[in-house]
Amino acid sequence: MQTFNLHTHTYRCHHAFGYDEQYIQAAIDAKMEVIGFSEHMPYPNVEIESERMFNRDVEEYLNTMKLLKEKYKDKIKILVGFEIEYYDNQKDYLLSMKDKCDYFIIGQHYKYFDGYNYDFYCSDEDVITYAHQIEKALDLGLTKYVAHPDFFMLGRRCFNEACQRAAHIICNAAIRNDAVLEINLNGLRYGQLYFDTIKYAYPYRDFFQIASQYHCKVCFGYDAHKPVTLLEKTRIDKCQEILEGIHLQYVSSFDQLKI
Ligand SMILES: [Zn+2]
Ligand SMILES: [Zn+2]
Repeated sequence: MQTFNLHTHTYRCHHAFGYDEQYIQAAIDAKMEVIGFSEHMPYPNVEIESERMFNRDVEEYLNTMKLLKEKYKDKIKILVGFEIEYYDNQKDYLLSMKDKCDYFIIGQHYKYFDGYNYDFYCSDEDVITYAHQIEKALDLGLTKYVAHPDFFMLGRRCFNEACQRAAHIICNAAIRNDAVLEINLNGLRYGQLYFDTIKYAYPYRDFFQIASQYHCKVCFGYDAHKPVTLLEKTRIDKCQEILEGIHLQYVSSFDQLKI
């Protein structure tokens, strides 16, 4: 059983719900040893209200989590971080923010820091751009955790050669940097997007088949936007069913990660 979850949101991103302490309590009830908060990081001068927290809330977020770390230290280890997206023109900002928190996860959703979501439509060229953005973040040492590495499949209806290439770029970079690839437990909420067979956008079986060839480390990430999500173990069963028969290097304890 995995005893940590490093992909947790808070109300500050404007599309998640519940109080911080409800997430912590849910993680304790789920017998987790480590809960990591990874709020969607804002970028200077850009605010996308439905997607990320506001710049002005960053200090409050960090300070509140610091207090909660102390308050719950005998019950659970709390980490505070951000879910980042990598953009060349935000490199210095990202590096400076890294020192302010415990960790970053990379969850690339946009092609540009102010727009173009990959889930609307992801061309072959976009798929490769997406992979290189993740590769750069890993090579720069910004993160060791790739959230929903197969996110681009939300904007696709088939896993073609470009998708294979992207998977190879991401898996190569993960191995090179000893990073973990997340099996995102929140992709199930989009339902089955493919009519030829039972498939969800993510986790996407073809992607993880390539990850297994590289022996990439993998872990589950709830991507919780509601506290009770942390107690939904059935999501793990469902994802294991999707990935059945693929030999993956599952990480079960936080100590096995280089966060
Ligand atoms: Zn979110
Ligand atoms: Zn997330």
